[in-house]
Parts: sequence; C-alpha cells; structure tokens
Amino acid sequence: MSDAQVSADARLVLALACDAMPLPSTGMAADDVINTLVGKQGGDVRWKDGRTFGMIYDGGPDLHDLQERVAAHFLHENALNTMAFPSLGQMQSESVSAVAEMLHGDTAAGFLTSGGTESILMAVKAARERGRKERNITEPNIVVADNAHAAFHKGAYYFGLEMRKTPVRSDWRADPEAFAGAVDDNTVLVVGSAPAYPQGVIDPIPELAAIAAEVGANFHTDACMGGFVLPFMESLGMEVPPWDFRVPGVTSISADLHKLGYVPKGVSCILHRDKELRRYQTFVFDGWLGGFYASPNMQGTRPGLPLALAWATLHFLGREGYERLTEATIRTARRMIEGIRAIDGVAVLGEPQAHLLAMATEPGWEDRVDVFKVGDALVERGWFHDRQAPPDSLHSTVSAGNAPVIEDYLVDLADAVAEVAGQRADDRSTNYATLE
Ligand SMILES: *Cc1c(COP(=O)(O)O)cnc(C)c1O
Repeated sequence: MSDAQVSADARLVLALACDAMPLPSTGMAADDVINTLVGKQGGDVRWKDGRTFGMIYDGGPDLHDLQERVAAHFLHENALNTMAFPSLGQMQSESVSAVAEMLHGDTAAGFLTSGGTESILMAVKAARERGRKERNITEPNIVVADNAHAAFHKGAYYFGLEMRKTPVRSDWRADPEAFAGAVDDNTVLVVGSAPAYPQGVIDPIPELAAIAAEVGANFHTDACMGGFVLPFMESLGMEVPPWDFRVPGVTSISADLHKLGYVPKGVSCILHRDKELRRYQTFVFDGWLGGFYASPNMQGTRPGLPLALAWATLHFLGREGYERLTEATIRTARRMIEGIRAIDGVAVLGEPQAHLLAMATEPGWEDRVDVFKVGDALVERGWFHDRQAPPDSLHSTVSAGNAPVIEDYLVDLADAVAEVAGQRADDRSTNYATLE
C-alpha cells in the first residue's frame, strides 16, 4: 500500500464521525430547501469579497449574470452521446479549437474534461498507451519534479506507472540534470509545469521536453494554472519563457477553464499535439449488450452545462476580456509580492512568474514569526490561503477578483504578523484537498 493510500485511510476514519442525516420521509418546501442550504454557507470562505486566494476565480458580475443565464438553458443536458445533443459536441469542438489556437497548436486536437485532474489523468493514460503500442513498454515510468501537481501521482497510481520524482533546484524549478538521470528507455511521460502550483515558477520546458524526445517519450506541460494567463501576458508584452506547442517535444498540454479561464467548476481542456497522439487517450468498446461505447475521458454520463459555460465564457470575454482580467491579475500579484517583501518577518519564495506565489517566514525570523500562525490570524480577518509544505508556507493563487482588496489585504497582513509575533500554531497540518 502506498503512503498516499495509508494517509487517505486515516482521514476516512475521521470522516466517519460526521452526523448521519436520513432522507426525509416527505419532501421539504422549495423555500425551506434554499434557506437551509444558504444557511449552511455561513461558514464558507468569503470569495465574493475577493478575500480568498485560490479555489474561486471571479470574472465579475456581468460574467456571473451570463453564466447564470446559460445554466437555465443547459442544466439538464447530457454530453454522453453528442448524437442526441449535437449542440454539446459543437460547443466542445469549438472551445477546444479556440484553446488550441491560444496555445499555438496548429495541428492540436483534444477534449474538454471535468477538470485539471482529469486532463492530467488522460495525459498519463495516453502516454502509457503510446509507450505500449509504439515502444513495447510493459513497465512504464513517469518522471516529474517535486513541484509537479499531486494529480500526476494519482495518475501513476491509477494506471500502474512507476513514479520517478526528482528534486527541484534552489529556485524551485525542475532540474534538467536530475531529469536526464531519471529518464530511461521505459519512460513514457516527462512532465513540466507552467507555472508550478507551489511557488509559481515556470519549469525549463524546452530542456525538459528535449530530454523526453530523446527517448521517444511524451512530454506534458501542466498549464492547468498558466493556460489562461501566460498567452495573455505574452500578448500584453510581458516576458514569458517558452512553454506551449511552439516548444519542440511538447506532446500534450492541460489548461483549466475553471481556473483562470473564469468558467465555473467542472471544465478543463486537454490538448495533444496532433490527432494521432490524441487517439491514445480515448476508449472505444463494442463487447457488451448495450451497443457501441466511445468515450474521450473518464466520465460516462457527462454534464452538458460545463461545456456550455466554457463556450459562453470564451466567447463573452474574447481575447480582449482575458487580457483585461490578466492585466488586473498580474498587477495584483506583483503588488502582493512587493507588499509581502516590505513586511519584516515574511518572505516570498523564489521569483514567481505569473499569478501564483507562496509566502513563508523570512529567513532569520523563524523564532519570531510562524507563517501558519499568521495564516490563522488572517482567517480571523476573513482572508483565506491554503497552507502548503514543505517548506511551511501560505499559498496564493491571485486572480482578478482580488484586485480591489489587495491594499486592504496588505494592511491586515502587516497587522497579523505583528499580532502573532513569538506565537506558534500547534496544528501543523496542510490542506490542499480533503476527502469529505
Ligand atoms: C489545479 C491544478 C491541477 C489540478 O486541477 P483540478 O482542476 O484541481 O483537478 C493540476 N495542476 C496544476 C498546476 C494546478 O494548479
């Protein structure tokens, strides 16, 4: 049993302590249902005020209004079979081709998925299939850096690949030398991130992709976060190192619409360099009593709403809308970095290149400032960061919704750091994702 599985089981035991709630014997009135549910939201983070650095990406009231109207039309549709719902098939292919164009994938082909994790699972599965068919690999491995997203570990675990993890350099980027030592003839997939979630730096994609190409392995750029930021930073004239299909050797890219694409949850895009490579992702089957079954992704029955929301958001915002949101996002992230660095006791790890950053205790201040305690004091002031480790730090995914409140945040941060001087949080747990 893997380490991941052991800790998952330990959490399950905790979750079982929750209250049981039976199905009511008669239905509740609609207003009571709504009031009860809305009442439960009282303890949730205050994302509508821009006080949450991650999880929700707020594109503004006009966009919300559009998305709510789309929901009224597409809440019930099913993308399982696009012969029944050709509208959904069209929305998917038109959305995918828009993303392919953004990422300079002239021959690229792909699908919309339910999220970054599913896009990554599909990249892992496609790489395994290609290695098996084209290189007869029966014991495949995948090479990543310590900054790669946990979803790659999930994919290796689900699909039976050996995971080879390499240390990051002192600047938190993947280390091509370590990759060269880890890649071998059984490597089917090499991974780089643009940017990596924990510290927001962009891995040296051209060097890593060249190492993959040398053995004929797939190379995946994880742009779950950067896919809807880096293209617009570039068109706004900001410096962006190479990461997309213009880099030789990059065979697949994930870009999450439901993050900085500003689409509500449930949709990401996976792209392969060409249709031949995409074939390794899909599942086609005709050996049961229910008829021909072809599916692009993990899901069977598949909600149509996320596909409609993706199409609607891409077309409502357009390039100009994304540039406006990206400009606000990057301006806010840079101001946050500068503001954190101006406060004694806290520091930003590395040199974040887009909209993600990690705040840690400033070197030399370890016995006076505990960044987790600072995080607790910020929660009391209504601000929410995920905790991450190692090293102990508070994560921020900045988006346009944070722009109006960033100066208030920096005032509260200075206050929080002063308030908790000399105190240490007893609870050292981190919480990127939870079970129940
Ligand atoms: C969010 C994220 C993922 C996983 O995506 P989900 O949509 O949460 O499943 C993968 N990689 C990176 C870099 C991410 O930020």
